[in-house]
Amino acid sequence: MELHDYSGPSVFGYETDAPVRRAAMISAHTSPLATLGGKDAGGMNVYVRELASHLSRRGLPVDIFTRRTDPTTPESVSLCPHVNVVTITAGPAEPLDKHALFPHLPEFASEMALYALRRGVRYDVVHAHYWLSGWIAHLLRRYWATPFVQLFHTTAHMKNAVAARGDREPELRVRTERRLLALADSIIAANPGERADLIWRQGASGAKVCTVPPGVDLERFRRQDRAACRRALGLNDVPVVLFVGRVDPIKGIDTLLDAVVILSSDDAPGRQPCIIFVGGEIDAAGRPVGTLAAVARRAIDLGVGAHVRFVGSQPQDELPTFYGAADVVAVPSRYESFGLVAVEAMASGTPVVASRVGGLAYTVDEEASGLLVPSNNPNELAAALRRVLSDVTFRESLSDGAFRTAQRFAWPAVAAQIAEIYRRLAAGHRGDLCCDDELFA
Ligand code: UDP
Repeated sequence: MELHDYSGPSVFGYETDAPVRRAAMISAHTSPLATLGGKDAGGMNVYVRELASHLSRRGLPVDIFTRRTDPTTPESVSLCPHVNVVTITAGPAEPLDKHALFPHLPEFASEMALYALRRGVRYDVVHAHYWLSGWIAHLLRRYWATPFVQLFHTTAHMKNAVAARGDREPELRVRTERRLLALADSIIAANPGERADLIWRQGASGAKVCTVPPGVDLERFRRQDRAACRRALGLNDVPVVLFVGRVDPIKGIDTLLDAVVILSSDDAPGRQPCIIFVGGEIDAAGRPVGTLAAVARRAIDLGVGAHVRFVGSQPQDELPTFYGAADVVAVPSRYESFGLVAVEAMASGTPVVASRVGGLAYTVDEEASGLLVPSNNPNELAAALRRVLSDVTFRESLSDGAFRTAQRFAWPAVAAQIAEIYRRLAAGHRGDLCCDDELFA
């Protein structure tokens, strides 16, 4: 591919092929240090943490900037060698709903610039995660002339296409994302469908949208001894369907519960599957609270309360045991940009039954590593789960296929693609940034 030189104004350092010496990441509304599986902490937090740590292993130091939600958090915390989480005070030092953050973004940008000035550091590239951080990256241009990469994780356009009326994203987000498509120097799409959507439906320039898939930690997520995992969770040989994720309408939990009703009515007593539900909040007595309590109530109303076990959100280190114990992982989402849970399950050798939406349609290999079903369709979801649960030979072949499929999402390969985008931006290139979708091949 031929690269065109940057034809804009000359900016010190960027008109040369100088290497990228330091990167700034912005994750304004949620910290990579947050507890996973809560309302606003999931795939993006994992992604930011893992990407930064893999970039640092390649020799690139990274500072991750996030908003202060607690007055006692130190300004800078080391996440791993050469990766710091820097807490920026912008707005009240308390948790705020992400929809209330927009007015505080200019202060975030100024405080970030002041931090860099105080510390005497400069960044060769800024990588913004989610639209709010993208707006900060754009405002930072008042202080730095640094190019910025935008990773939306989801866009309002894509979310609203599948959202119920009450769950629609605000117009401010829609408008800001449209502006960011024009303002960002590079945009990373998580899958080829998202790239097409950004270009053809949302008007982004094709030259700057690169597709780079998610990565998965293959050291943490690998095949486990199934019997040992089941013992650790106190499970006998009952068929186990696992769900892992945030409690959010986009995750299709309602569809899964409706599918459980169908599955439970089909099976002989004693062979009815147990659904383990990881995510959301439980109290000290193990009772679901908040939005998870509503899910538990719905399970009882549907008459399947006895088949569903809620364990609350779990640290990522505990998840291999859950993936290892499960016969199948259900990902019934209405939309997923990445769908990290599906890739983690596959890396653990556990087949996946997922909705054919977003990144899932590319990460799950139909009939080889799992099954894809239409979203919002309990009958199809139940039929696919039944097929995997009832046919041991098929399940074992899916397990091998799942493990193989996941290997191509190794973080070192994914981080290498992102580092290449940074390198080209820092060298002054702007057009023709997109990479081959080789990891999806
Ligand atoms: N996760 C976790 N503990 C939980 C629930 C989720 O560690 O209790 C992690 C999970 O391992 C995955 C991420 O959160 O890496 C969820 O990412 P995914 O892309 O599936 O969903 P998102 O949260 O981005 O919608």
